[in-house]
Amino acid sequence: MPEGHTVHRLARALTDLFAGQRLVVTSPQGRFAGGAALLDGRVLAGASAWGKQLFVDFVPADGAATAPDDVRVLRVHLGLYGAWTFAGDGSAVVVHAIGAPRRRIGETETVPRGADEPVPLPRGDASPASASGPEGDVGIAGSPDEDAGTDWVPPAPRGAVRVRLRGVHAVADLTAPTTCEVLSPDEARAVVAGLGPDPIRWGDAVRAGAEPEPHDDPERFVDAVRRSRTPVGTRLMDQSVVAGVGNIYRAEVLYRARLDPYRPGSSVPAEDLRALWDDLTALMLDGVQTGAIVTTLPEDRVPGGSTGRHRVRQNSDAVPGAVPSDASFYVYHREGLPCRVCGNPVLVREVAGRNLYWCATCQH
Ligand SMILES: [Zn+2]
Repeated sequence: MPEGHTVHRLARALTDLFAGQRLVVTSPQGRFAGGAALLDGRVLAGASAWGKQLFVDFVPADGAATAPDDVRVLRVHLGLYGAWTFAGDGSAVVVHAIGAPRRRIGETETVPRGADEPVPLPRGDASPASASGPEGDVGIAGSPDEDAGTDWVPPAPRGAVRVRLRGVHAVADLTAPTTCEVLSPDEARAVVAGLGPDPIRWGDAVRAGAEPEPHDDPERFVDAVRRSRTPVGTRLMDQSVVAGVGNIYRAEVLYRARLDPYRPGSSVPAEDLRALWDDLTALMLDGVQTGAIVTTLPEDRVPGGSTGRHRVRQNSDAVPGAVPSDASFYVYHREGLPCRVCGNPVLVREVAGRNLYWCATCQH
């Protein structure tokens, strides 16, 4: 399942590709025909992410929205199987194809592939895109071309495409989302109100020298974890406690904090949770930038890999000099392998349907 950094990257890609453009919105599969009709012909004003939730704002084509009801919000949650696939006319600058693998392998939490692997698409019918990779993820890159796009024929929808957004130079196809619906701005705000603070939004604001929104105040996270005896490893996966953390960041940030995942939240000192938040923020902002999750310190990247049946792909796999996937994590998908620091076997246990990885020696 994509973690928050992936959804933030996706929001940026959609904004870069389509902002200010009047879109043709369809539901090739048909299941979203009503929703698509509400958005078709409108202008994409921008996309944003809150944790794992994606919101895409559409305004009327005849000018800026004059009343709140004039804005319609496409809300998408990818869930385990959802994916966006992009194709373009060759003039679009880099976009990122983001989503889950098509086939369920193990826990299916492989890091989405394809974002930074440029695959130039020819103009005209871009059908070669359908053969571009095992996941159907297609990244496109190219130099801006003033003349491109005028007679471009996008590739036919591939698979059960819930919604297709077509702009001037590109299309974006959404398949197999958990949630895909059209909301009013008030309804979208209600969804956000149910989420915990988002480290990426908070970190972005801090780095920009702006005042973070109160919603993203890390003290909300600290208070929520300390409010109950629920294990901290469980609280980190609760989107109402902290938004955007998935199974990889959960396991890795607890390891880096040397914190026992089963420790009751109420017994974790507030300053430890603040430090954990800061670490999470740095890791997730790095993830937004690179498309990959890397949590290991250079000195700990000894060969040892991940377990073969759970190979994790990263967007940086093809980038020279990037940290290899099998050296990127301390514990995630490393069950039974020696801990990179103490040498004892990494443990795994299923907790509420999700695998929790940790080192019982280092984390206590
Ligand atoms: Zn250890």
